Amino acid sequence: MVSREKINQLAMQIGGELGTQVVEILLDQGDNTSEFLIAEKLEVKINVIRKTLYMLQDANLVNSMRKKDKKKGWYIYYWTFDEIQANALINKMREMRISNLKKRLNAEQNISYYTCKKQCIRTTLERALESDFTCLECEKVMHEVDNSKKVKLIKEELSFLEQPEELAEALIEETNTAEAEA
Ligand SMILES: [Zn+2]
Repeated sequence: MVSREKINQLAMQIGGELGTQVVEILLDQGDNTSEFLIAEKLEVKINVIRKTLYMLQDANLVNSMRKKDKKKGWYIYYWTFDEIQANALINKMREMRISNLKKRLNAEQNISYYTCKKQCIRTTLERALESDFTCLECEKVMHEVDNSKKVKLIKEELSFLEQPEELAEALIEETNTAEAEA
């Protein structure tokens, strides 16, 4: 079972604010929700709703089926949120995030970065040598960046993401509780 919070994050990334609202309605209404009902509930034009639904469909987050409206003679699409696909997508994104973080960690640990006091720009040693350790923005001297804090943060996020799902969920709850108590 995927948490609503994660589904919201995912829908936001794919369909923006409206995407999350549409998904919320699909979750509340259950399978085969009429696109007109979604439009009506959100008070948004049907073509805008459809555009968002297609975005979600392209990401396999929703499925549709069409039915002919007997009175009006046109087709109406009914939409269903696909929890299995959503779960797969969330896992895939998590894997991607882990892979990116590992690359960043590798870079942070192996490359020295340089910046000025105002931190206008962050540059590699090669680039810093090219400009004789002078910041190209403010022309002040550049020094090596202490990235130990950044490395620590990346490591923390990595160990969090690499934990089994249930444990990660529990940790989120724990953190939320601690924050609420603080
Ligand atoms: Zn500068």
